[in-house]
Formats: sequence, structure tokens, C-alpha cells
Amino acid sequence: MRKDYFRDLWTFVAPGRSLRPFDSGQIQVSDSQGCFFCPGNEHMTPPEISRISKNGSWQVRVFPNKFPIVGGEDFSDNGWKVASSHGYHEVITETPDHNKRLSQVTKQEMIYTLITYRDRINALEKDNRIGYVSVFKNQGREAGASLDHSHTQVLAVSQVPACIREKMDYSHAGNCIYCIIVEEEKTSPRAVFETQAFVAFCPFAPRFTHELWVVAKKHVRNLNDLSSAEVADLAEILLKSLQAVEKVSPNYNMMVNYGPRGADFHFHIEIVPRIPHQVKAGFELGTNYAVITTSPEETAAFYKG
Ligand SMILES: [Zn+2]
Ligand SMILES: [Zn+2]
Repeated sequence: MRKDYFRDLWTFVAPGRSLRPFDSGQIQVSDSQGCFFCPGNEHMTPPEISRISKNGSWQVRVFPNKFPIVGGEDFSDNGWKVASSHGYHEVITETPDHNKRLSQVTKQEMIYTLITYRDRINALEKDNRIGYVSVFKNQGREAGASLDHSHTQVLAVSQVPACIREKMDYSHAGNCIYCIIVEEEKTSPRAVFETQAFVAFCPFAPRFTHELWVVAKKHVRNLNDLSSAEVADLAEILLKSLQAVEKVSPNYNMMVNYGPRGADFHFHIEIVPRIPHQVKAGFELGTNYAVITTSPEETAAFYKG
């Protein structure tokens, strides 16, 4: 059983299930007819928030989620502890192409996407009732996506989530666990890719089989701290990482971790491939232990190969 780098989270490696890529025939993609996110159907989404234009049309487009998670009922007279459900829930379509996956966009298109992430976080943090802006991507039905056209979600909530606060507690400049982790893992058997500014590796004690992290080498707090060369660098390693993860499963979740309002934290992105027969079951739910079926070292070798 392996312990997480610093949290009280434990993971079992239970080999015996081979690392097998999924039949690409399992990818189900609807056609672009009637797709809310396709060019020409802009009237089917709530009013646009912003876009990055290219050749007279949009390349990246932002609009509110029609079915927001936030903004529901707010209690005031309940005996239990409550918090505001005020927030914003937005969608970013990273490409106008209905059949393109984020792993298939050009490096420049990935840069546009990262710039949009940065700009939306900055815009939503202007509302002082917002505590954290969660930027995440659900790719594929098995990862929770309900529409096939590639998109990222932006969910601004009133609190900094406990799991982010816990990570931030261990991530102060000059005394940062992620600075130590990056230094160790970039030459470990779990290392996968390295660029000038970032390292991609399989974490030592992952919560999910085949998990991959992309971590800044420098102690940067958020996307504002990255130079344009470093954003381009991130675009490059993120593309390679998504392509590697898709060798295992066409379905994945990607989560951006950053320091809200410039708070101290070590910027990184977590990618979790979702494998249909590897759902969290009774043991995991009952104990919060994780069970993975392939060691991170084996997964790293597979991703690199
Ligand atoms: Zn579409
Ligand atoms: Zn750090």
C-alpha cells in the first residue's frame, strides 16, 4: 500500500489486469447535426461570453452552461452548516470541429485554450463572492460528458474546496511539497515527459489507475505566472500527455489546480483516464483506500513507449 506524497490517502496496487488499450470502435460520437456547440448553432447556447476568432469565425468560444450546478437554493434557517451556492458555470468549446478531440488540436489552438482558461479564471475572480474557479474537462461519456463536441467546463464556487485547501497548506513558496515532488519525479521511473518548464509523470500513489500529472518545474501559482513561452511549453506537454492517456482510454477527466486570486500554490494539471470496468466500488467507498491495477512505473513506461 502506498501513501500519497503528503495527504493521508492510501493506494493499493493490485496487478493482474493487463494494460490494454480500448478498442477505438467503442468511441461513440454523435454527428454534428443539431449539436449545440457546433458553428452555425450558436443561437442554441445561452448568450456568448467571449471568443477567440480565427479566419472570420470562432476558434474558441465561451458561453454559460444551460444547466448550471451552481445558483440553486440557498438556506439561511437550517440547523446544519450551509454555504452560498452562488457561482458561475460556463462552457468552453476548444475547437469548432465537431469531430476533433482536444488531443488533436494544433499547439497554437491549445495555446488559445489555455489563454481562455486563464482569462475566465481572472474574469470570474473579479466577483468577490467567488472562492475558487474549477476548470476541468470531461472527455467521453464514461468520464461524465453528456455532449460529444469537445469542451471544457468552468465552475466558479463560493468556497475554496477542502481538497484544494489541503494541497495549498503543503505548497508554500520555499517550503513546497510539489517543488520536492517535481525534483524527485522528473528522473524517477514514473517520469513520462519533460519540457523546459514542465514535467509529466505518474504519481507515486495515485487515486486512479494510469493517472498522469503535469506539474510546473518552477513554483508558479497560476496561469498568470507563466510567460508566453511557458504557456506554449505547457500546450506542448499537455498535448503529448492527452495523446498518451488516450492510448489507455478515450475517456478521461482533466483538472486544473491553481492558487485562487494569486494565493500561494504550485500550479499543476491532473489527468485521470476513466476505464469502464474500474469503477470505485464498495471497498474504496467504504474506506477511501484506492485500488489500482497497474503500477505507476508500468504505466509510465507504457505512456513513454
Ligand atoms: Zn458539434
Ligand atoms: Zn512549489
